[in-house]
Amino acid sequence: MTSNALNFSGGPGALPETVLEQTREAIVALPETGLSVLGMSHRSAWFKALVDEAEQNLRALLGLDRDYAVTFQQGGSSLQFAMIPMNFARDAGAPPEYVTSGYWSGRATQEAAKVTARRVAWDGRAMGYRQLPSLDALDVAPDAAYLHYVSNETVEGLQFPVFDSAPPAPLIADMSSDFLAQPIACNRYAMIYAHAQKNLGPAGVTVAVIHRSLLERIPDGLPAILDFRTHVAHGSNYNTPPVFAIYVLTLVTRWLRDEIGGLAAMQRINARKAARLYSTLDALGEAVSIHAHTPWRSQMNVAFTFGDRRLDEAFVEAAREQGIVGLEGHRSLGGLRASLYNAVTEPAVDTLCEALTEFALQRA
Ligand SMILES: *Cc1c(COP(=O)(O)O)cnc(C)c1O
Repeated sequence: MTSNALNFSGGPGALPETVLEQTREAIVALPETGLSVLGMSHRSAWFKALVDEAEQNLRALLGLDRDYAVTFQQGGSSLQFAMIPMNFARDAGAPPEYVTSGYWSGRATQEAAKVTARRVAWDGRAMGYRQLPSLDALDVAPDAAYLHYVSNETVEGLQFPVFDSAPPAPLIADMSSDFLAQPIACNRYAMIYAHAQKNLGPAGVTVAVIHRSLLERIPDGLPAILDFRTHVAHGSNYNTPPVFAIYVLTLVTRWLRDEIGGLAAMQRINARKAARLYSTLDALGEAVSIHAHTPWRSQMNVAFTFGDRRLDEAFVEAAREQGIVGLEGHRSLGGLRASLYNAVTEPAVDTLCEALTEFALQRA
């Protein structure tokens, strides 16, 4: 089965072949219950055990302690953009601060403004979103409600280094496109969230890891579904959860643990894949340009262009003939983008690199 093998899409992303095989079987009948996963009740003992396992697997992979609640929600990361200021922007004290470093953090910054006063702690727009600030050097009010940033800018291909210092304010990160790609110093964060469809599974579920002290700040009177406490109190089973998406996510966490060997091993693989692609692109010299400035190059998303739309389109076509798909850049930026999520294999990256070199040689 190679349906997914050379998928470099920005999202939904590739999934591991063994996960797809188990999913195919589970759609017909789960080995444990004999029923299709698509018809499993969210009130069944099977589902309760599944959510528990998903949580435990995430806790083990991330090294999370009991001070953090783990929730599975719907609405994607875009709903988190709205819920975070609704829940955590206090009436008293300084407003939340936002790092605007690209398309997705820009969306988060805009959404917050509809809910609360908020400050922009850093804005990379004038520099074309090609570089990132150092989080601990930002001028953030010491009593800011929180500091929000996007750890990996999926569209522009910019990635913050792993953050492991004292944050200037309670730190909230959207890790939608690099969650579980490397070890994270979780105890530096007040909250981490990531939807599944880039690195963890299919669309429909969003993981939110929240420090319990943050829950005490939530104002009363929010609609229940928009109040993080509801999801914590009901074990992510307040209303019908996305059973199928949580099932596939659980398979992905088992794959990370058993086949990959944890997040440090995943990071080594991801680093090799990114190094291989960047060195191929660098070797093409003037023929290509990479959007991100070198220190902030993302290991997950590589945004680049042959410098002209016709050439980019010709490469997408040439790649497609070799079974390589998903290389179109995000609609807001154009150009090309190769996404190297966890499930993208090293041989797949080698195939892409060969196609790039061959294409550039033919045009030279
Ligand atoms: C794709 C993406 C989003 C959008 O997520 P939805 O689940 O579609 O709302 C948000 N943040 C980041 C970093 C993304 O890459």
